[in-house]
Formats: sequence, structure tokens, C-alpha cells
Amino acid sequence: MKIQYNIAYFKKHGKEALYYQTKDSVVYCSLCPNYCVINLNRKGLCKNKINIEGKLFTLAYGNPCSAQIDPIEKKPLFHYFPKSRVFSISTGGCNFSCLNCQNHHISQVGADELENYNLTPEKIVETCITSNCPAIALTYTEPTAFYEFALATAKVAKANGLKTILISNGYINQEPLKELSKSIDAANIDLKSFDDHIYKKLCGGSLQPVLNTIKTLKENNIWLEITNLIIPTWNDDIAMIEKMCQWLIENKFENVPFHFSRFSPNYKLNNIPSTPINTLEQAKKIAIDAGIKYVYIGNVYDTHAENTFCPNCSKTIIERKGFRVLRNNIIEGKCSFCGENIAGVWE
Ligand code: SF4
Repeated sequence: MKIQYNIAYFKKHGKEALYYQTKDSVVYCSLCPNYCVINLNRKGLCKNKINIEGKLFTLAYGNPCSAQIDPIEKKPLFHYFPKSRVFSISTGGCNFSCLNCQNHHISQVGADELENYNLTPEKIVETCITSNCPAIALTYTEPTAFYEFALATAKVAKANGLKTILISNGYINQEPLKELSKSIDAANIDLKSFDDHIYKKLCGGSLQPVLNTIKTLKENNIWLEITNLIIPTWNDDIAMIEKMCQWLIENKFENVPFHFSRFSPNYKLNNIPSTPINTLEQAKKIAIDAGIKYVYIGNVYDTHAENTFCPNCSKTIIERKGFRVLRNNIIEGKCSFCGENIAGVWE
């Protein structure tokens, strides 16, 4: 059924957006650093916010296009309750327009343009509990694009003793991030490059807000891991990777697990070859030499690149294959071989 975008419809069914102001019927959204200025009956860049008679409504509430159970390792989160099952949700829409987006069929269209489930935050939590999932993951597309739904779901989850995990591009303003941080437990933030021009060309965003997000999550005691997808000719410059690792060390992120991820040709970058393995290994060495303790290489199979090694005795403390944990030698947060504390939330 086609939705009629009018105030009567939204008064009855719609959720008003958070973080905006109106002047002369024009809406100024301040949820993310895109700061969209939205005229009457128009949508913001994320395609999920619409200005109806000077009020901003979200089109992404209670209508996830994806709802499925995943292993937590798929997010990836490697140092947070290994082997947990997480209930993953996303809606259509995104505040970035990455040329390489793996999920462009859902991220580059509005939530109202897809076939969706009808799942309120309460229903999601109820489904989690009956399916024995201790956590919800806000993932696949960008949770900032379904912020109101994400926040409400995280609040209901918390009230029911469930965890909420944020998988995000980190492109959100500080005030809404701090509000969301009160109800989430762990996050993996995609650090797409360490260069503002690349951010702009590749994703339509900028670097500094993402760095601010990473710092704020850490300050708010959210368990944090970071992912960097290395795309040949785009963000594989070794000097830039060195600079990124130096920034992480200077800002005391040495215990934050860092995932370099292998690019495969996709979407608008389907003419770029997969990342060479030696580029990923070189990046890993740079990160370890800089002082980052837990460094992984993702999307590469049949290697030890996704195992966790003790930073003290170098023994394998978690052995993984794909998204499976084969062996876990961490006992009470310590390496079972030498007793070294291993950063993470283990039990
Ligand atoms: S949340 Fe959406 S509408 Fe608001 S500023 Fe960001 S992209 Fe624009």
C-alpha cells in the first residue's frame, strides 16, 4: 500500500525525529554532521527523515528490512562475549554514500522503499528473549539513519537485561551519541581512512566526527573495536596507515582491537581488485609495531589472521575459523598460559 505523506498520516502512525529545529517551515537536522537543511515534503540525505509541515519525522521506526541471528564474531567483535548469538537489525537508509558499499541495495534507499518486517522495539526484545539471544546488534546499514528506532530498542533491551551493540560508521553528532551511549554496551566503528579528502570522495563524509565518536565511546566505557577496510588505490597508502596507528597510540587506544579488512570488488568500485594479502600483512605489522596489541585481518580465510595472540607470551589464546571460535584459552580475562590480562569483556 502506498503511504501518503501528510501530517494526518504521521500524526497517527509516525515518529517525530529527534535533534532538529524549524525556521519558516524549513527543517535543520542536527543528528549527524551532514546537517541537512530540509524543505517541505523533502527528505534528508539519509533518505529517512521527511519534513511534513515543518515537523521532521523518521521513516525508519519499527520497520527493519533485516532481522536475523548472527554470531557476534561476524560484526566483528572479537573481545566481547565470544560465541554469543546476536539479533541483528537494520532499516534502509544511510548518511554515507560509500562507493564500495556491500549493502547498497538497502543502504542507498529509504526505509520506506523496502519490504520490511513489522517489529517494534518491544517485539524485538521479546524475540531476542525467546530465541535465547543475549544481545541486539544495530548493524548492516547505518544506525544513525534509524537513530530513533535504535535508541528506543536499546532502551527497552537495557530494561530487560539485554546488551546492545552498535556497528556504525561513527558519523553522528556528539549530543545524540552521548544519549545513545547510555543504553549501548559495545561498538565496532568503521574508520574508513585517515584522510579527509578520501572520506569525502569515498563516502561523502569527513574524518574528524568519526574520531570524535571513537573518543566519546571510549570515554563512556563502551567496549570498542575498530575496523579499517583497505581498498587498493584508495586508502592503502602506508604512510597514512602509519599516521592512523600513531593517532590511536597517542590517544591511548592500544588495547582496542583493530580489524584490517580485505576489500572485494563491489558496487561502484567493482573495477578495483581485491586487497593483496601482503598489503594487509604490512598494515598489521605497522599497527603492531606502533603498539596496538590486538590486530586482526578480516575477510581472509585459512590463515591465523583472526586468532588472538597473547601480547605477553605470544601464544594463541583464541583460535577462530570464519565466524567460529574453535578454542578459547582465556580464563577469567587472563591468558591461561602466562596470566597476562587480556583486554575485553569475557564473561
Ligand atoms: S540524520 Fe539524515 S537528515 Fe539528519 S543530518 Fe544526517 S543525513 Fe541529514
